[in-house]
Amino acid sequence: MNYNKKTIEDIDVTGKRILMRVDFNVPRDKTTGAITDDRRIAETVPTIRYLLDRNAALILCSHMGRPKGQRKEELSLLPVAARLSKLLGAGHEVTFCSDIVGEEAKSKAAALKPGDVMLLENIRFLPGEEKNDPELARELASMAELYVNDAFGTAHRAHASTAGVAKYLPAVSGLLLARELKALGGVLTDPAHPFVVILGGAKVSDKLGVINNLLDKADTLLIGGGMAYTFLRAAGCGIGSSLCEEDRLDYAGEMMDKAASLGKRILLPIDHVCAESLEEGASPVTIPGETIPEGLMGLDIGPKTCEMFTKCIAEAKTVLWNGPMGVFENPTLAAGTLAVAQALAEADATTIIGGGDSAAAVNQMGLADKMSHISTGGGASLEYLEGKELPGVAAADDK
Ligand code: ADP
Ligand code: MG
Repeated sequence: MNYNKKTIEDIDVTGKRILMRVDFNVPRDKTTGAITDDRRIAETVPTIRYLLDRNAALILCSHMGRPKGQRKEELSLLPVAARLSKLLGAGHEVTFCSDIVGEEAKSKAAALKPGDVMLLENIRFLPGEEKNDPELARELASMAELYVNDAFGTAHRAHASTAGVAKYLPAVSGLLLARELKALGGVLTDPAHPFVVILGGAKVSDKLGVINNLLDKADTLLIGGGMAYTFLRAAGCGIGSSLCEEDRLDYAGEMMDKAASLGKRILLPIDHVCAESLEEGASPVTIPGETIPEGLMGLDIGPKTCEMFTKCIAEAKTVLWNGPMGVFENPTLAAGTLAVAQALAEADATTIIGGGDSAAAVNQMGLADKMSHISTGGGASLEYLEGKELPGVAAADDK
């Protein structure tokens, strides 16, 4: 994919007052509100440092959760400001502005000095954000001289702070956004072969476009997780009470026919770990063949499938993985996901992880630094891999 958009490295940012859209929508503990995974914040630090080193003054803007245009204290970005201060280290206290585009925010923005960083409150507290309201975009733009978008995780949304604002200011991408596009774009345009795509997770319908777009680029597609059962059923296998998307059976069949006619392999699980239900305490059993008996649900790939998938990964030169192989949140159903994560960590290949839950699984297993790239955007990476244009990327100025 041709990346012809300007980044912060293509322009002079020295001493500029910059509005920077970031994606600080990080997971939080439901009861305490504590940040449970700060990877999205940490990944923007190189861009922030690059700009501060050049004496820029930064106004950071992000969303958190889905407040639907209303102020909701539990979705405040206040704790994020403290975490970012810590990640930036001594000398960079990040100030928090509980206002967003009102007089208070504007006067605080105007008072920023070179090297200062201010984080605005959750932009989705304003109803204009998700409506891509031009008035809100103009208000945001009025606070700065330059707009930098580093929010890859939100790049598939055309909102006021991700796309609209770019009409009113010079607009360029940050280093994280550029890095994401380079990694994901690389697998679309010039993957080293064999190129293996692993898909899992709960829903076939989330990933239909990706299968279709990648089938002619990849050599082998490994399908596990909840989406495997729709494919197995379409191939004529009994799947017990496993997840199945009835309205996608035809599509699954078509994809398998398309793969066969292109000479590509789609590998489905050949054994399973099943239980009667997803209830806690239901004890999992291994089912040795493809067919799942009535009354059981497939909840993880079985040991023979792990072996088949890991062998395939070991031979690959490029691996793209989106979606866990089973209900990995439950340790008795995590073996398949762990096996795949370990095989990726050991592979002599470019390894790219997309998808929030897959990224969380890799982190949880302590294998994150063994991967070539872990995307910070689940939905955005899927849309990009489907071949769609991302509004947050398209809005930046051309080179
Ligand atoms: P990602 O965020 O990596 O794109 P998804 O959101 O598509 O992944 O799917 C992750 C979810 O899929 C996890 O919560 C996991 O428990 C669930 N899942 C995986 N395998 C199964 C299965 N066999 N049955 C039901 N749910 C599954
Ligand atoms: Mg997910």
